Amino acid sequence: MMKRTILVLAGIALATAACSSNVQPDETTAEATEPSTSGATAPTDSTTTLVALPPITSEVDSATMVIVGGTVLTMNPNQPTAEAVAVRGASIVAVGSELDIADFVNDKTQVIDLAGRTLLPGFVDGHVHYFSNSDGTPSYLQAIQDDILSSGVTTVAEMSVTRQGLAELRQLDDDGLLRVRTSVYVGHNTVCGEAVDSWLGEIEPTREWGESLRIGGIKIFNDGGACNVPASSYEKQNGGMGDLYMTADELAAVVSVYDKAGFQVAIHALGDRAIEATLDGLAQVITDGNPLRHRIEHNASVRPDLRSRYDEVGAVAMTFGSFPTCVMTGNDDRFQFTIDAEYQEWEWPWRDLIDQNPNTVFAWHGDYPVFTDSTPIANLAGYVTRVQILPDGTVCEPEPYHAKHAITVEEALAMMTMGSAYALDRETEVGSIEVDKLADFVVLSGNPTKVEPMDLFDLKVEMTVFNGEIVFGDV
Ligand SMILES: [Zn+2]
Repeated sequence: MMKRTILVLAGIALATAACSSNVQPDETTAEATEPSTSGATAPTDSTTTLVALPPITSEVDSATMVIVGGTVLTMNPNQPTAEAVAVRGASIVAVGSELDIADFVNDKTQVIDLAGRTLLPGFVDGHVHYFSNSDGTPSYLQAIQDDILSSGVTTVAEMSVTRQGLAELRQLDDDGLLRVRTSVYVGHNTVCGEAVDSWLGEIEPTREWGESLRIGGIKIFNDGGACNVPASSYEKQNGGMGDLYMTADELAAVVSVYDKAGFQVAIHALGDRAIEATLDGLAQVITDGNPLRHRIEHNASVRPDLRSRYDEVGAVAMTFGSFPTCVMTGNDDRFQFTIDAEYQEWEWPWRDLIDQNPNTVFAWHGDYPVFTDSTPIANLAGYVTRVQILPDGTVCEPEPYHAKHAITVEEALAMMTMGSAYALDRETEVGSIEVDKLADFVVLSGNPTKVEPMDLFDLKVEMTVFNGEIVFGDV
């Protein structure tokens, strides 16, 4: 009995330390009882601890959910790993050792045993089209959300949302049925570059902390892709240089209007000519930091001389993980397009981009339903290996000039959590497991930082937690 009492009280001291460790190192507050104690170290003098601590106030300190028994990859650089997490309602209240978390448990607490599995923040997909084919029925909207949650994603940015689509999402949110944190981006123009009947006067961007539905900003297409052809600087094999929708000056004029109105913009640019025009256009608008987080989507074919320009421009850069290696190597006959051999090295040169732009935020987007597997697991494996595995099991190995642009699993995980949370201006809400952030988690069958790269493809999403509640999988 005595031993248990000491353990419980020590747990409070550690929990306090864990809370204070959430504060930036240079902002350590006076409330921290033992600022030098890391969350993982038990005090050596239990007697002193007994005398010094206040009595247990279990109603205040209890958690609605604790998660123990495995590895926590927090994605918080100040505390990269932990053993356990405590949640109260929708919020994370402690991150630390199992000892830290023990005192948060009362008889009402839901205790989840990871049984050796790995907990991460829910993935944040910075650009999707999940809701765009919705028929608006509640059952369809629920099925879409179940799909998203079963992939381990808890926050998305839904691009090119229509007036009707926004109305449906608002209804879902009002009914308390939105179980995926959703930022919407309204289309400035269509995928073919045509003007849309503007209803922008009816909406304003929202930035309420923790809101489930957010009006994130404006989606602008600056070259072809799903419609028309990406804009390149060279003549393509099958003729033409693709379709650029706006020059740098035209784009700057459009973006300025949105910027002044407080809207973030997300600009689609696939081909190198579009990326150049977009970088040049944004450089005219982003003149004093990038407080609205203006973004460039896809950044697919980046000419070598453009690769070092991202830091200078200051935009957020969105990237794919699931590399279409089979298309590049000609093994995927589901698709008609080819990329001229001499320009294939320009495709998705992430290694160069990250190395040459240390101050740029790179972030992940799955862009469901693109032609590759858009799930987080496939994207993580693609970032790290550049291998593509087709639905029929065909494995396509990358050419050396593609393999060299693979990135590390740590870089990829950061882009898929904190990177994309930043791109949505939600990095104080989600993207890492830290005290006072929202309790959105995913449980993976294994630890992605410990498995062999090719085994990343075999990781399974076993549970998803949104707002402190299990929304996919079983305990
Ligand atoms: Zn898209």
